[in-house]
Amino acid sequence: MPVKVQPRGAEALFAEEVPPFSSEDEALFEAERCLLCGGKEAPAPCVAACPARVDVPLFIKQILERDHEASGRTIFAANVLGGTCARVCPVDELCEGACVLHEEGRRPVAIGRLQRFATDWVLERGLEYLERGRPNKRSVGVIGAGPAGLACAAELAKLGYRVTVYERDPDLGGLVTRAIAPYKQHIEPLPQEAERIARLGVEFRLGQAVGESPTFEELERRHQALFLGIGMGKDVEVRWEGDDLEGVYESLPFIEELKLGDPRRLRIGERVAVIGGGNTALDVAREAVRLGAKDVMILYRRTEEQMPAFKKEVKWARKEGVHFYWLVAPKRLRGTSRVEGIECLYMRLGAPDASGRPRPEPVPGTEFVLPVDTVVKAIGQQPRTEVLKLIPGLELDGGLVKVDPETLQTSNPRYFAGGDCINGGATVVQAVRDGKLAAAGIDHYLSSGRG
Ligand SMILES: Cc1cc2nc3c(=O)[nH]c(=O)nc-3n(C[C@H](O)[C@H](O)[C@H](O)COP(=O)(O)OP(=O)(O)OC[C@H]3O[C@@H](n4cnc5c(N)ncnc54)[C@H](O)[C@@H]3O)c2cc1C
Repeated sequence: MPVKVQPRGAEALFAEEVPPFSSEDEALFEAERCLLCGGKEAPAPCVAACPARVDVPLFIKQILERDHEASGRTIFAANVLGGTCARVCPVDELCEGACVLHEEGRRPVAIGRLQRFATDWVLERGLEYLERGRPNKRSVGVIGAGPAGLACAAELAKLGYRVTVYERDPDLGGLVTRAIAPYKQHIEPLPQEAERIARLGVEFRLGQAVGESPTFEELERRHQALFLGIGMGKDVEVRWEGDDLEGVYESLPFIEELKLGDPRRLRIGERVAVIGGGNTALDVAREAVRLGAKDVMILYRRTEEQMPAFKKEVKWARKEGVHFYWLVAPKRLRGTSRVEGIECLYMRLGAPDASGRPRPEPVPGTEFVLPVDTVVKAIGQQPRTEVLKLIPGLELDGGLVKVDPETLQTSNPRYFAGGDCINGGATVVQAVRDGKLAAAGIDHYLSSGRG
């Protein structure tokens, strides 16, 4: 789908990578391709592959019946961020990857674009699709207004709970607002989806960093149960000599500036090196191409097969002109005031490390210098251990919150958790799934009189 990015600059940065259908007819034409498989006995493969369990054949059937409102309702009933997920989900890895049309050697149904069609239909017409349950007087505090927190809050309000969401930032959406590539989703439709959640009676308290003000003790006095949806923290700190030079960035502040601030302030140069092999590194590289860099390269210390990034992202980045250096690690950055070069070293794979993957080991004497004027470190995010350790009895595993896999209850029974703070960083739809599961876990815990 993506082609050589032309023109460059803000226009390219915000131009949608996967555009919506241009007409109702186009959507109907695509919907016709669906075999509407699955049934009561066994869900369709696309439904089984969706962490939020959206009933894909049903919503496509409703589009075919021209009942687009019902179609949108079907999606939002399973996923309160159905419009956002229609834009940002890695569909190749999930629903579309499981489409039975693959077996016939045909292109899968464009489920993401159809989901966008139906959800846009409902949102653009201002239709309501969420209903508050009969109030039950119990109160739950949700910490973090990212996808996990929003989904948990909505599901609890649907069950009649009084819900207050505490968010450290001045805006809602977590990484959807601050980090997801602007050519996938800039801001909309998340604010519209959050507005529906607020109309269920959910109270949002923005600019409140729980742990500092209010404290966890205060929240424990206010609420019978608490949900932790605080995501992950800053970029992992890896220091190299010279990384305080001008033109060297951490990935998250870099993306936030180009998405919510002023891309021109980044002063991106012509030759950009991105260090890392995950989806964030791929996003940064593709964003740098759109910002106008002439030569964008990704340096990864393992091989292509071991890259955690989604295959489709790698394919699209290549098509857009991004170069990949495999088995290469930085040693030091060179320059006087601004970075001018990156000294690298070749690696080879050794014995397996703690993750079970072969450990990359430096090959002595293989140093070489790549001339660059911008370097972005995209190595991953750190857990928010400093906040989590304030909660009494909360067990962590490598900084991630340990939970019961079915109820998402933590080792402190009043706390439940979901999203990136339990999985280390996954997808929006996975966070939505966790928010739903935890809401059911909280409901069970409080209904059984244990809260
Ligand atoms: C660069 C990048 C690109 C991505 N692209 C995609 C993509 O295209 N598709 C996709 O599906 N996923 C993508 N993801 C992953 C996705 O954004 C996350 O998996 C998802 O947002 C996790 O949701 P969450 O609610 O667990 O955490 P977050 O989205 O991180 O939200 C956590 C919220 O908690 C708040 N918070 C933290 N501490 C406190 C506190 N003490 N008190 C109050 N509030 C607090 C934070 O401010 C934040 O708003 C991307 C991630 C990154 C980094």
